[in-house]
Amino acid sequence: MKRKITAFFTLLIIALTAVFPISCKKDGEENTNLVIQVEFSDTESPFTQRENDLLKKAFCGEKDSLDNFIYLNSNGSHKVKSNILGVVKIDKPIDYFMPRYRYDAQSGEYEEVNGIGYDNRYFAEDGSVSGNGKQSAERFFREQELLYLSTEKAVEICKDLGKKPQFENLTLVPSRLNRYVYSGDIFHPHQAKNYTGDSSGLSSAYYTDGVSGSIKNAKIGKTEVGSYVIIPFAYISSGERTSVTTLCHEYMHVLGAPDLYTYDNAKKPVGEFDVMGGESTPEPTQSLAYLKYRMGWLKEGEDILPVTEGGEYSLTAMEDVGGVKAYKITLGSYYEKGDTFYLEYRKLGNGSLASAPTEGVIIYRVNEDNGYISSMGEKANVWRGNAYGDYEVIVFRNIQDFIYGNHTTLNEEEGYTSFGNPDGNVNVILNSDGTNSGIYVEYLGKNADGTARIRVEIPSIQAVAPSGKAGLAVEVGNRNSVYFGDVSEAKTAYVYYSSKPIKNATPDKLLKSKKGELIKTHTSFLKVTLPKPDGIEKYVYVFYQEDGGYSSVTEYKIKGVKDVKLSTVLFIAIGVGIIVPSALLTLISRNSKKRSKKDE
Ligand SMILES: [Zn+2]
Repeated sequence: MKRKITAFFTLLIIALTAVFPISCKKDGEENTNLVIQVEFSDTESPFTQRENDLLKKAFCGEKDSLDNFIYLNSNGSHKVKSNILGVVKIDKPIDYFMPRYRYDAQSGEYEEVNGIGYDNRYFAEDGSVSGNGKQSAERFFREQELLYLSTEKAVEICKDLGKKPQFENLTLVPSRLNRYVYSGDIFHPHQAKNYTGDSSGLSSAYYTDGVSGSIKNAKIGKTEVGSYVIIPFAYISSGERTSVTTLCHEYMHVLGAPDLYTYDNAKKPVGEFDVMGGESTPEPTQSLAYLKYRMGWLKEGEDILPVTEGGEYSLTAMEDVGGVKAYKITLGSYYEKGDTFYLEYRKLGNGSLASAPTEGVIIYRVNEDNGYISSMGEKANVWRGNAYGDYEVIVFRNIQDFIYGNHTTLNEEEGYTSFGNPDGNVNVILNSDGTNSGIYVEYLGKNADGTARIRVEIPSIQAVAPSGKAGLAVEVGNRNSVYFGDVSEAKTAYVYYSSKPIKNATPDKLLKSKKGELIKTHTSFLKVTLPKPDGIEKYVYVFYQEDGGYSSVTEYKIKGVKDVKLSTVLFIAIGVGIIVPSALLTLISRNSKKRSKKDE
């Protein structure tokens, strides 16, 4: 019961996927992030010049900024341009946007703590308060109101400046709150999509009986608010500590990345090895190669290569330019278990936002389908990462305790130079069903060019495809994949996709065609997933490199994405804020000024 309630409190906000599909931007795309600083009618700590300067640095600075991080994390393929508009003062007190009740887990009772706040309780269908019910819609309406009031004031600033801003994301930065903020509160950092439908659909996700509120269309000029982030200033800078980790985490949600920590009991299967891991590292760490691949920032067959047999391999650090960013191991058991394993090399943090907290090689397991488990425990079409159910991604560590500092990269300094135990039961690289994968990895040292040298042992990659696992398949998440079928060796595969058909397609024709996109990959990955999850690609052509030339071309036509019931995607939580360290919580508390430095 307690766990369930926690999960519900963590479950946030809304996305109308049908209107604003979550998508990964294509290479080289740039988007604009409009930033509005928000003060309230009773703001006790208005923005100071120093805070304004800090904010500018945090968003747009050359180093240690959001814009810089997204550029680095996308390996140069995505740019965010943050545009700080200024301060708006809205005519409502802070507490109007804070919860009315505090839940006491001991007694299971709600206590009213803020008379003008929104109803943050959960209700069963019969109107009784219940942790298993739906949250009152009042929180939803208050957040809408905050968005609307902020944009309404922003319009006045724009008029004064003669500006007509275009933006893809809006970030609201409330001034210092001097309040405690809990997970699930409006002021807990989070990202969401603005809801522009009517209120009749709300009852599928919220308890609406007796709740009043209206949905006003938040827009600035002609630009309607789509994606937005709410992150109070104290989550960026508090006293002596400034950190853009939470900000970068939320912005990665804007771009479509899911959480890689768990919502139910705050486990950190990825931790400090990815900005989405939920660890409040002083600097945001770059994402795992797998996540970057899913975002369209790294390519299989180019940046990520297969391991098809045991032997020595070299890895370029994620922080360096070019080279092999990861090796992906797809074992023969993939069709049965759905697991793949990745190896990558991370460099030590040096203040450039681009590094892991410890240098070395890491190994992690991915089970893509587990990334689609919903809060109800079923597989649905929204990518949720590690939020619910079995892990999508887990980084193996010698101490599987997921506490900051227990990172186990393979390097000499920390005394760990190998991982995996094909014959034993300690330090085993596990399949997701708990069996031994049989993989063993050893760090051999650094090459003269700065790459890491590793030795890998793997069991057979020979894969026998069950019937139906060859050719085109629509998978959970509405992704289109091409399975290569039975694979006993790695050969180069070409997959070409296009919205228009290619007449009499031959390998030569497809290699030259500019109508669509070509993926060069390896059959030993067993499948290739087309990058667009929304079914825009319609025609798919597959051929292979063979002795002395190319195979013939197999053509597939995608019949269209399976109909998604609107009711199932209408209200889904996305982008929950990351866990805030207790030091930050202290600093945004009511008593922050009275606390001694020692307590922080
Ligand atoms: Zn998150």
